[in-house]
Amino acid sequence: MSPSDVKPPINWPAIIVLFSTPLAALIAIPLYAWFADFSTAAWVLMVGYLFANGLGITMGYHRLWSHRAFEAHWLVKIPLMLLGTAAIQNSILMWGSGHRVHHRHVDDVDKDPYSARRGFWFSHMGWMIRDYPTGYADFSNAQDLLKDPIVMFQHNHYIKLVLLMNFGVPMLFGWLVGDFWGVVLLMGLLRLVLSHHTTFFINSLAHMWGSQPYTDENTARDNFVVALFTYGEGYHNFHHIFQYDFRNGVKWWQYDPTKWLILACSWVGLTKNLKRVPDFTIRKAQLQMQFKRAQRQLEASASRLPMMDVEALKQRMTHEYDAFMATLNEWGTLKEEWYAEKKQALADKKQELTLKWEEADFSARFKEMENRLQMQSRRLEQMMRQAFPTPV
Ligand SMILES: [Zn+2]
Ligand SMILES: [Zn+2]
Repeated sequence: MSPSDVKPPINWPAIIVLFSTPLAALIAIPLYAWFADFSTAAWVLMVGYLFANGLGITMGYHRLWSHRAFEAHWLVKIPLMLLGTAAIQNSILMWGSGHRVHHRHVDDVDKDPYSARRGFWFSHMGWMIRDYPTGYADFSNAQDLLKDPIVMFQHNHYIKLVLLMNFGVPMLFGWLVGDFWGVVLLMGLLRLVLSHHTTFFINSLAHMWGSQPYTDENTARDNFVVALFTYGEGYHNFHHIFQYDFRNGVKWWQYDPTKWLILACSWVGLTKNLKRVPDFTIRKAQLQMQFKRAQRQLEASASRLPMMDVEALKQRMTHEYDAFMATLNEWGTLKEEWYAEKKQALADKKQELTLKWEEADFSARFKEMENRLQMQSRRLEQMMRQAFPTPV
């Protein structure tokens, strides 16, 4: 019997929060709407607070504290901590430590705290409502968080902060706008229920539904619809392969408000050292995946195509793959050359102008190689489209 088959004890505080809140919302909100009606202010506050506490989780809990994808000023860290607390998803320390285990052992049924291989229900909510051994956190992977005063303050005063953000803040706003119960119900209660389930989708749906453009070595998917409800976290396939990048939707047009906020804060000095995986590395992963998929497609449909076509396709693919490997080697050599030049330049104390000129030359050559991969990616796509007008 695997450890995952044993039924561990029920986690009552989680059950109470997770089940009483939707139930209370289902009863109280229609009743209030029937007898008193909600003010526009209550609806606006609900949407605003939902967005803000979502960003507290995605920008704060996730990208800042769990992955250290950027650094932030305390003026940003404190609001992120408070807004994340409003989402009632445990302290940053517990969340971050568990999330690092999720990345390290993704999909492992006995180690990943919310492994998608244990089914939708388990990865969505099931993992929280019992004290599964997979959920046990010893913080050995969170030494940095143990030293962060904001993280530790939140961990030590968690319940008080939860009450402040979930009762205190909505009550204050309700009183200010003159719709006390309306705001408490929408901004406090309904917002919490919506926030819970949209975030939970990152562990469930984002590991089940969508495409795998960068890797198929784990269940994580890229999905625009999930990104819409999770402030950009739906580009989960990218995130699992390049977890330290501050972007999840890496393309400029991908909907990732968390990325935009981190970037905007950096323009005014509130965030810094934003980590980005080099474009070349990203394109390389994408192209590798394309080759893998093309190979599989070719094998699966070889018997349905005339022998001559299969041979011709195989040859073209080998040719493309050789070109791909050649570009990778060339890139490796250029990188070495670049390091050597840099070292030499430091030793020679070269003039700034010469250095700038050399840097520009190198970056042009790197860019040329990135473009080459992009062109190859397009060629491969076109080739497969021509060979298989309807995908198998
Ligand atoms: Zn994941
Ligand atoms: Zn993550």
